[in-house]
Amino acid sequence: MNLLLYGAPGSGKGTQANMLRSRFGIPHIATGDMLRAEIQAGTPLGRQAQPILAKGQYVPDDIMIGMIRNRLHKPDAGGGFIIDGFPRTVPQAEALDVLMGELGRSLDRVLYLKVEMAELLERLSGRLVCPACQRTYPPGTTACAADGTALVQREDDNVEAVKPRIEIYLSKTVPVLEHYRGTGIVSEIDGRGTIDEITGRVLNAIGENGRFNSMSFLP
Ligand code: ADP
Repeated sequence: MNLLLYGAPGSGKGTQANMLRSRFGIPHIATGDMLRAEIQAGTPLGRQAQPILAKGQYVPDDIMIGMIRNRLHKPDAGGGFIIDGFPRTVPQAEALDVLMGELGRSLDRVLYLKVEMAELLERLSGRLVCPACQRTYPPGTTACAADGTALVQREDDNVEAVKPRIEIYLSKTVPVLEHYRGTGIVSEIDGRGTIDEITGRVLNAIGENGRFNSMSFLP
């Protein structure tokens, strides 16, 4: 099952990706998490990426395309994957098409988590994250429910960085959805409600046992 999660910052991609990973045993390939790991490790790429992420801007396409190419060639991605955070620009989407061709694979579904702007802004400012497992929590939570780790705020989850992140999403990433519309693989999922409700919709969109449910297809 080759899945792509699409949605604005704060739309709940990471939460649903975690669920899909444990349910289907396929890797969650999150470019934001990969970049934060590079920053943490102090690699040359991490040093280059750190100020870009802190400002809510995008890392250059060639770097991101190289990163996803390396990752998708790893053996654990051979049985399927969940890509989260890529492609964020039309050139990245075009490169992913080429890469899929190289790998002899194709995307089965683009899961579009749709959340309105006012709610996104509310969710993003003040959201907390577990540094160990990347699960996110609302403001006021202190420890991760899964592993007890003390929660932290992401460097780019503050009012100054949230606005540019949303702006760049609207200008650069919304056209990516257009790239996939017309291919018939986009499922639009209402991203409002409880995590369980949204999980139900996601599973419905991909169908039980990974079979695709044509009822969820967009015209
Ligand atoms: P969000 O929750 O805001 O969607 P992510 O964790 O997916 O955040 O990504 C965090 C940051 O990493 C982005 O704001 C951007 O700076 C950088 N980034 C992640 N993926 C990409 C990409 N495909 N292209 C460019 N920059 C990226």
